[in-house]
Amino acid sequence: MKNRRGFFIIRILVFIFVLPPSSFSESIHRVRIDNADYIPLDELVSVFGLDHSFDMISQRGRLYRKSHYAVYGVGLSAFLVDGRLYKSSGAAIRNRGRIFIPEDAGESIMGSFDPRVRLRRGADLLFVERIRDDETAPVEKKKSPPSSRDRICFIVIDPGHGGKDPGAVGKGGLEEKDITLKVARYLEKKIAKKLGDLRVHLTRNNDRFVELSQRTDIANKMLRKSENGIFLSIHVNSSLSSRISGHETFFLSQNPTNEDARNTAALENNVVILEEKSKSAPKTYDDVDYIEAMMITTQIQKESSELADSIQKGMAKNIKSFGSRGVKKADFYVLRGVLMPAVLIEIGFITNKKEARHLRISSHQEKIADGIAEGVKLFIKRYNRLLKMN
Ligand SMILES: [Zn+2]
Repeated sequence: MKNRRGFFIIRILVFIFVLPPSSFSESIHRVRIDNADYIPLDELVSVFGLDHSFDMISQRGRLYRKSHYAVYGVGLSAFLVDGRLYKSSGAAIRNRGRIFIPEDAGESIMGSFDPRVRLRRGADLLFVERIRDDETAPVEKKKSPPSSRDRICFIVIDPGHGGKDPGAVGKGGLEEKDITLKVARYLEKKIAKKLGDLRVHLTRNNDRFVELSQRTDIANKMLRKSENGIFLSIHVNSSLSSRISGHETFFLSQNPTNEDARNTAALENNVVILEEKSKSAPKTYDDVDYIEAMMITTQIQKESSELADSIQKGMAKNIKSFGSRGVKKADFYVLRGVLMPAVLIEIGFITNKKEARHLRISSHQEKIADGIAEGVKLFIKRYNRLLKMN
C-alpha cells in the first residue's frame, strides 16, 4: 500500500551541499496575501536545506531537518512544530503548485528547528542570519512555540454517520444517524443558551454522508491564532448482548481501555468502507505516513481526557434511567488529527430494548444534550482557570 501511495506523493528534496565557512546572509521573499505576510515554502526549504514532502490527497505536507519536523495542511492555520501546536496568523495556501505559509509560521518553525538562525524582516525580503560557532554573541534563547492553551471560542458538534451510512440499526428500523442528528441539534440550542459567546458549528445538519476526514477538517479549519475549539462526535452504541445499556465518553488513544472499547472503535471506524475511493489512490487510515502526520500532542490528549471526564459527569447527572459506563480511550479515526480537545460520546445502546425506546423520544434526547452541554460548561470553567494561571 505504501509503495502505491508513494507515486502520488511529490517529494521535493533540496539540499545545500556547499555552505560558506563563515556566517552569511540570505533572503526569502515576503509576499502579501489577503492582508497577511507570507513566504514561499520552496524558498524556506531551499535556504535551510530542509526535507519536504507533500501529499496531494490529504493536502498535507511535512518538513524535516535532523530530528526536527513540522506538519502543515493547506487551508489550516494550525501547524505542528516538533510535536507542539502552533497557530499562525493565516492558513497555508497552495497556488499554482506553490505552497505559501504565513511568515510567523515560518519563523516559528525555524525557531524550533535551529536556534542559531535569526530572521530579520525587510521591506520585501526576510533576511536569514546565521550565528557562527565562534561568535561571542550568546545565542538568543528562542522560546518554544506557544501551546494550544488559547481561549475556547468555538464548538464543533459532529452528528455521527448520515446519508448512505445509517450507523447502528435497532429493532423497528431505528437508525443511529437520526438520533445523533437530533441530539446534535438540541445540543446546539443548549450551548447557545448556556455558553452564548461560543460559535457552534455542526459537521452536518441534514441526512447526508460526510467522510471522517472531512469532519476533522471542518473543525481544524476553524482554528485561528489565539483561538481554540472543542470537537464533540455524537454516536449511539450497539452490542451483541441486549442486556448492556448506558452512556460512555471516549478520547483518542492508540491503547484502548479494554476489549469493549476496542470493539466500539472498530464498529465506528467501519464506515471507511463506504467512503469514496479517491480516483488516484485508495484512501487509507492505517498508513504510517498518515498516522505520523496526524500525530496529536500530549497536551491535546490530556485536555481531551479532561473534556471526556466533564461530559461524562454532566451526562451522569442528567440521565438517571441508565448508568454511566465511564470515560474510556480507544482509537477512533474521526478523532485522529483533530487539533483541539476532542471526544466521542456514545449516548446509549440501540441494542438495549429499554434504552432504544428512550433514545427515540425527544425529551430523552434533550436530557442527553443538557448533560453534554453541562459537561462542556464544566470543562471550560476548569480550562479557563488554568488559562489564568499560565
Ligand atoms: Zn456511530
